[in-house]
Amino acid sequence: MTVLAKPNMTNHWMPFTNNRMFREEPQMFAKAKGVTYWTPEGREILDGASGLFCCAAGHGRPEIADAVHKQLSTLDYSPHFQRAAPVSFEFAEKLAGILPDGIDRVFFAGSGSEAVDTAMKMCLAYHRATGNAQRTRFVSRAWGYHGVNLGGTSLAGMVNNRRDFSGITCDVVHMRHTWTEEQRFTRGQPETDADLANDLEEICKTYGGDTIAAVFVEPIAGSIGTIVPPKGYLERLRAICDKYGILLVFDEVITGFGRTGSAFASQEFAVKPDLITMAKALTNGAIPMSAVATSAEIQAAVFEAAGDADRPEFFHGYTYSAHPVACAAGIAALDIYASEGLFDRAKSLSAHFLDGVFGLRNLPHVSDLRGYGMMAGIQLTPGKAPGEKGSWVQRELFKEGLHVKATGDALIFAPALVSTEENINDMIAILQKVLGTQI
Ligand code: PLP
Repeated sequence: MTVLAKPNMTNHWMPFTNNRMFREEPQMFAKAKGVTYWTPEGREILDGASGLFCCAAGHGRPEIADAVHKQLSTLDYSPHFQRAAPVSFEFAEKLAGILPDGIDRVFFAGSGSEAVDTAMKMCLAYHRATGNAQRTRFVSRAWGYHGVNLGGTSLAGMVNNRRDFSGITCDVVHMRHTWTEEQRFTRGQPETDADLANDLEEICKTYGGDTIAAVFVEPIAGSIGTIVPPKGYLERLRAICDKYGILLVFDEVITGFGRTGSAFASQEFAVKPDLITMAKALTNGAIPMSAVATSAEIQAAVFEAAGDADRPEFFHGYTYSAHPVACAAGIAALDIYASEGLFDRAKSLSAHFLDGVFGLRNLPHVSDLRGYGMMAGIQLTPGKAPGEKGSWVQRELFKEGLHVKATGDALIFAPALVSTEENINDMIAILQKVLGTQI
């Protein structure tokens, strides 16, 4: 591979990055195939994070590239306001085929953050349509991540994502997160702490259950470092939502598309929400796209409230909603997931994956391990300042040939569902080396 000169890094202000440090020590990817990235210098880096939890079927899939090329050459762009491209209906129908039963109406957007804000508006529209316009408050959870748009920033429960933006957030009340000391080194769902869901009941008593539009949770909290819900917790949330007429939204931007061993975590945990947000692996990460799925009943309520007037039922949408090229990429991705049985593969690979993860237990930098399906959280012992250890470990892993995502002092380890056991072993070996280093 050609060795590229270091680019001029002045102009690109990088997201969620220490830009000044990055310019000193850039860690870049120039090529990817399967579960491997290559740096511009040609060094191999194993992908232990499916990019950013996007590339479930691995990188460089020719089926997706071909579908994208074909779509670009046929219809590169079509607006979806009072117009449409047939490919969007085809994709929505295909997606409905793997969604939980009864959650089969699909609204497309461009990113996970857009899906979250769309879902918030959809909940408000539904309540207004059904005579409950007073339901304007949302509930989410400490340590939650729901993207970075204004709605998602309001829902956010991770302090750095909200601290500097207080002037623009809306009315959200937070439940406690579900991690407790007792759960340390629990593999799979913790047996204890389902009663933390009763926080929702308390919020209903304090604020009035009839003022709350919806509860947003990630079924497994991803970005904070894979916090798995205690057994019975999601069921309890569902029951309290039903009691107070509150909509339940599962943000499945990370957990969707096989990460838990089922198409959606909702199916894996057998708890049906009213809306599901998804993105990332929707197109295997190849083209930006997200979606909100909901029930025919919720859609019908919004449609009927619009009456006979010739106007959109839902005044919301994006220039890139249902972009035809993204739809084509999504169809090709879903075809791969089905033909290669990748959701089942995730389920069967999980035991080997979690064996490897839990084998890291006694290493000096590890203070907790969590995991479910093909996603794991590795909590690091604290460094000199919060996040300093995570940042250091992330950089060291890259030097040793492994990409994982660090958030604060937690690593999120989530390889592609096409990984082999050998790939997993190689990744674990690099983790062992770095997490065992004395500093
Ligand atoms: N919701 C969840 C649960 C996420 O994990 C993410 C991103 O990681 C988002 C929303 C935001 O997605 P995006 O970065 O595509 O806006």
